[in-house]
Amino acid sequence: MLASVIVDIPNSEVDRVFDYNIPIQMPLLVGHRVLVPFGSKKIEGFVVEIKDKTDIEESKIKDIISILDDEPIIKKEMFNLLDYMVGRYHLRKIDVIRLFIPSQLRSGKVKKLLKFAVGLNDSNAIKNFVDNANKRQKNHLQIIEYLQKNGEILLSELSKIFPISAIKKLESDGVLCIYQKQVKRSPNFAKKEDKKIELNNAQKQAMDIIQNAQGSTVLLYGVTGSGKTEVYMHSIEQAIKNGKNAIMLVPEISLTPQVLSNFKARFGDMVAILHSGLSAGERLDEWEKLLHGEAKIAVGARSAIFAPLDNIGLIVIDEEHDSSYTSDSNPRYNTIEVAQFRSKYNNCPVILGSATPSIESYFKAKNGEYRLATLPTRVNKKNMPEIHSVNMYEAVLQGEYGAISSHLAGKLDECIKNNNQAIIFINRRGFVSFLTCKKCGYTPTCTDCEVSLVYHKEDNQLKCHFCDKRYHVINVCPNCKSRDFRVGAMGTQKIVEEIRNLFPDVPIFRMDNDTTSTKDSHIEILSKFAQTKPSILVGTQMIAKGHDFPNVSLVGIVDADISLHQTDFRANERTFQLVTQVAGRAGRADVEGEVVLQSYKPKYYVYRYASNYDYEGFYEREIALRKTTNFPPFTTIIRILFSSEDKEKALQSVQECYSKVLELKDRYMQDFNFCKAVACPVKRIKTKYRYQILIKIKNENKEKIIKNIYTIVDNSRDKKVSVFVETNPQNLS
Ligand code: ADP
Ligand code: ZN
Ligand code: ZN
Repeated sequence: MLASVIVDIPNSEVDRVFDYNIPIQMPLLVGHRVLVPFGSKKIEGFVVEIKDKTDIEESKIKDIISILDDEPIIKKEMFNLLDYMVGRYHLRKIDVIRLFIPSQLRSGKVKKLLKFAVGLNDSNAIKNFVDNANKRQKNHLQIIEYLQKNGEILLSELSKIFPISAIKKLESDGVLCIYQKQVKRSPNFAKKEDKKIELNNAQKQAMDIIQNAQGSTVLLYGVTGSGKTEVYMHSIEQAIKNGKNAIMLVPEISLTPQVLSNFKARFGDMVAILHSGLSAGERLDEWEKLLHGEAKIAVGARSAIFAPLDNIGLIVIDEEHDSSYTSDSNPRYNTIEVAQFRSKYNNCPVILGSATPSIESYFKAKNGEYRLATLPTRVNKKNMPEIHSVNMYEAVLQGEYGAISSHLAGKLDECIKNNNQAIIFINRRGFVSFLTCKKCGYTPTCTDCEVSLVYHKEDNQLKCHFCDKRYHVINVCPNCKSRDFRVGAMGTQKIVEEIRNLFPDVPIFRMDNDTTSTKDSHIEILSKFAQTKPSILVGTQMIAKGHDFPNVSLVGIVDADISLHQTDFRANERTFQLVTQVAGRAGRADVEGEVVLQSYKPKYYVYRYASNYDYEGFYEREIALRKTTNFPPFTTIIRILFSSEDKEKALQSVQECYSKVLELKDRYMQDFNFCKAVACPVKRIKTKYRYQILIKIKNENKEKIIKNIYTIVDNSRDKKVSVFVETNPQNLS
């Protein structure tokens, strides 16, 4: 017999199956990991098919060396998913397979944890011992009784209850035996009481919709605190009762110890957690529990969508709008689409949950492509915190040039006097810089695309990164006639200094990329903050979601406008989500919360709707804008990304591809809305030059056009240039 094997080498030239001979008696199955000879080396590979014929000359076929695991580690469904992902995202097979199994397993560096266990031998030896036992052997008899009652136990546990000498004696008499056994490592979480909760009517209705959505997607739209998590948990419980398994995804950044212990409290050992914060050994063992059916619920970030579970009864994606669900480095894939594939395969529902659904998802729910379940009010009937806007334009007119307005400073003072806590949120700017009028906050935008123009220092020009149109740098603000412009924004550190000057005696915690470079620093800062009253936490996007601080009564958003200045058509949507999410950090428990939003254009519709927590209103405005400007979901954006250390080679590839794309455009004239080759906004990442071809097409023929683009890319591959194709990417930088 022969086996088709995918070898574990991430190289396009060997991205196909290779045939090997299966030695007689080797109990090989599809999905097994094996060791095979490859060239002059021995390489790991994965068996994708077992067959009896091949086109390859018999003398050239080599033998499989060995099987690496006791059982297959890739299940049948995953091979279907492999084909789907290779076709849909144009990925290498091996890159997809690597998503399916933990890297700890592949490298073989993490060993199974073996411990000594104790078990009883056959009944004859026991009877013999019991019949002949004397009075002094009370311990021995108790051990036998204990093992009869409880079954196998770890030696380390048993020796805590009984003297080791007695255990050893029983072993030497053949009554029990001591042997090595694999023990699965388990991550530790704070133990927590689970509270039984009766669902309210809205939650029950949502449950009904979910139960009837086998094989389809339900958008669960509910404000923060409306009880979405309870609905997820009850739905998971239902799936388990039906004898099925479940997957629950949460954005990495919200996967806090708090969230994890809630799941542990409700579902105990049925939960396996797949999280980058675990040790390598824990991660491997949690994954194996799922593979072996010892755990039934996978909880984790994006990659947990590949949990090795079969018979799935439910998939949940919490905070479905979060951009982290779209992988933007190789292998690029869309988690929601993968979830939908698995839901169809297993005929189970997918729940997409959010307080601010992505425009694309809400559009689908309105169109009937998704089912819609709504939780309109908070469980505790508390109002959302009030959002006050501060007009920074007026602040500047009053002579306030700092980052913290006097209004926000006053609120901070009040908060501290009441012995509460405050969070000051700073928007992360990304890599690009914009030109902004210091006085009124005006930022020039492209007349064709409506996106903010990026300032290029080297040629002192403004450029649209979407269409590459160039503009002269302006010296006079068309809005307020001021000549005072600034480039870039203030960093976290600068703002911490400013706050420290205002409140020299108050503890201030800072959380951004610089302060959280080590693994646990992030949790450390947050737990210190949680224990300090009064105090102020200053941070970037990292503090926006998930965390629950009962004593936070004030949230300040220093520079809300920045997310509006992105070169991306999702800028409005992101800003709305951000304001809603950050506001959700205030007033979560007994203390009333309030939010101060600083902006140069507080009347801008995004802020107006966000301040009223009016998602529907915002959605209607935004979807109308997308329609008139021809952006997704009404069109599809495709980006072909080129990167290489060799600038010339990269440019050559871009040109070659671009000329072929233009030919394609001639063929599909009606469908092409836009097509241009430009340098990426981030021109270089880690010594690699980056270019992109941006294409916008109508939806009707998109499948055909994308297939053509894949072919173009394949045919013009240069070894020194990596090329990737993305559809509706979350990130155009
Ligand atoms: P969300 O996920 O929408 O933000 P949660 O599910 O976390 O909301 O619920 C918010 C709070 O309300 C939690 O403390 C939760 O335990 C509680 N809760 C949820 N549903 C109910 C209910 N039906 N009755 C009482 N308390 C509930
Ligand atoms: Zn101005
Ligand atoms: Zn433009």
